[in-house]
Amino acid sequence: MMCGIIGALSNDDITEILLDGLKRLEYRGYDSSGIAVLNNHNQIERRRAEGKLNNLLRELLENPVYSHAGIGHIRWATHGAPTTVNAHPHATDKVAIVHNGIIENYRELKVELEGKGHIFTSDTDSEVIAHLATEYLTQTKNAETAVYETLKRLEGAFAVAFLFSDHDDLLFGARKGSPLAIGYGENGFFLGSDATALAPMTNKITYLEDGDWCILSRDKCVIKDMRNQAISRDIKQVNLSSVIAEKEGYRHFMLKEIFEQPTAIAQTLSVF
Ligand code: GLU
Repeated sequence: MMCGIIGALSNDDITEILLDGLKRLEYRGYDSSGIAVLNNHNQIERRRAEGKLNNLLRELLENPVYSHAGIGHIRWATHGAPTTVNAHPHATDKVAIVHNGIIENYRELKVELEGKGHIFTSDTDSEVIAHLATEYLTQTKNAETAVYETLKRLEGAFAVAFLFSDHDDLLFGARKGSPLAIGYGENGFFLGSDATALAPMTNKITYLEDGDWCILSRDKCVIKDMRNQAISRDIKQVNLSSVIAEKEGYRHFMLKEIFEQPTAIAQTLSVF
């Protein structure tokens, strides 16, 4: 029950990289998709669509965006119907996030944040992550601290990527239970659910381990653990055949998701 994440911080325009990454992840199955990027004024701009990636592409052709920093998502809904408002990225004017997995304590977090004046616009569990990070950003005035404080509050399984307005040289990723990899490209750093998504940019990859989170800027990548200590993880050189093998894991993956559907549906219903 996890779908796909892509993130990019590059000197090149990254819109196409994000779309291409999503296209490479679509073998996992999905019901909607979206991207968030920073525009020329360093503000968050989102494009989302329900259904096929072609719908997102059409949306982007009508309302193009160009950027050097962004995140993208294909969604397999667990909480909230597969509609455009529930499609990721979820965002405030300060923080955009994409999330794979389930945030089990989202109801408590939502009540707490609504109490502080946050207004939610989707039925997803994921949206709490964007509001929580915004809340901690307001309190601490520091994006990295905001991400760390947010991660400490989340229960459940997740891979998350964070993008902050006014920070066009910063991207965060975190993993607990859902896969996430860092790709080291010649022209920037990338995040992806697997090596297949990152294949056009690089074959040098670090798979985050559970509890890891990373802070990416264009010339630096720092990986930390849940005690906020910097740690080192191996960089793997992925060869093409293993990338292809990963792609052929497709049938198996689809079946896994089909088998997981009854739980997903039960969880969705319990929300309403
Ligand atoms: N639980 C989240 C949602 O329903 C993420 C689903 C996913 O992993 O795609 O939006």
